[in-house]
Amino acid sequence: MRVREPASGEVIDEALGLWFPAPASETGEDVAELQLHGGYAVVAGVLKALGTVEGCRMAEPGEFTRRAFENGKLDLTAVEGLGDLIAAETAAQRRQAFRQLKGLIGNRAEAWRQRLIEAQALVEARIDFSDEADVPEDLIAPAAKVVRSLRNEIAAVLTDRGRGERLRDGLVVAIAGPPNAGKSTLLNRLARRDAAIVSPFAGTTRDVIEVHLELDGCPVTVLDTAGIRESAEPVEQEGVRRARARAAEADLVLWVTDVSAAGRTSAKQPPLKSDAPQWLVENKIDLLEHGACSQTHAGSRRPPEKSELEFVFSISAERGEGLDALFGALAAFARDFFAAGETVLVTRARHRADLEQTVAALDRALAETARSRREELIAEELRAASSALGRLTGRLDVEDVLDEIFREFCIGK
Ligand code: GDP
Repeated sequence: MRVREPASGEVIDEALGLWFPAPASETGEDVAELQLHGGYAVVAGVLKALGTVEGCRMAEPGEFTRRAFENGKLDLTAVEGLGDLIAAETAAQRRQAFRQLKGLIGNRAEAWRQRLIEAQALVEARIDFSDEADVPEDLIAPAAKVVRSLRNEIAAVLTDRGRGERLRDGLVVAIAGPPNAGKSTLLNRLARRDAAIVSPFAGTTRDVIEVHLELDGCPVTVLDTAGIRESAEPVEQEGVRRARARAAEADLVLWVTDVSAAGRTSAKQPPLKSDAPQWLVENKIDLLEHGACSQTHAGSRRPPEKSELEFVFSISAERGEGLDALFGALAAFARDFFAAGETVLVTRARHRADLEQTVAALDRALAETARSRREELIAEELRAASSALGRLTGRLDVEDVLDEIFREFCIGK
């Protein structure tokens, strides 16, 4: 088709025009799409021409997705999945985002909400229609059964060690250890570029440096923490404090030490408080005289028993010995960590918060069924659980409950 300037009738371009009628379009509205020859003057000319048509304006950022959401084409979790898909940097992130866009968590949440509505219908039928002959006496017990199984299912989803959120942000590996052990050198090796300043003077890496890497398709954030040592210098003290805090919340800590004569005095056992596994990385093996330390050779070995460490690696960050073993182990660790990824539903703190609130409300409802069995209180907690799930998908609809009551019990003829 020919695209013309409305006022002059001048042909701007010859284009393909596609018409997607509502409600089957992406946004649920009538959509017209022009496929133009994409040069700057063509696009500018067509936009200018469209601007003269009444009711036409440029879309706000995200407006099409927003309309798709408002028209019920996408739920909130799918909208987030779409955002994540566009932002995905690694294959594993891309897959997770795509699963979410296709409703992995949204559909589950909607199915949970439907079951909850059934339970609500039972309890509210007790309240609203208790004198009707065809309402069975005890509706609380079957409702409690539904609520209990729902509660356990949602609680099980929450025991995922935060893998979904981690996949979005990256597995966090902290490189820690005494100053001058070679942490920055190791980070640069990992990043294959000069991300941290390597300096022969102790205490130069004062802040926490982050590098985002892809290891075997998995996103990994490596932190180079300032040399951890006691210092009277305030700036360095602050660096040490931050380093400890970041290392404490990492998924894995690499504790780097200098095994050469010069660094021998440095601590061998990681003095870090962290729930994460810690690997000891003995660096600068190139400086050891041959035979000086017979059991130290490039590669990895298991630590002596009773150690808090999981592995010991002997490397030369500068020369490269032992790095393959260390990087291979890191990739395997990341792979294992994300292995359960296919089943992970929760990818954001928002999902977790909503699901935690759902479980908490269901727990209160169950406590009430066991205690006083006051239907109004039980119903109130179920409504709270239902709204938390409704918030998760961005859909809240109280009419559903009434529909369910009338369908199940044929009341109100
Ligand atoms: P950081 O303070 O722990 O980050 O240590 P750096 O990475 O800044 O390294 C401190 C010094 O040790 C620098 O002069 C590095 O060149 C040197 N270094 C790091 N790794 C090795 C290694 O494997 N062998 C040798 N010989 N020197 C190293």
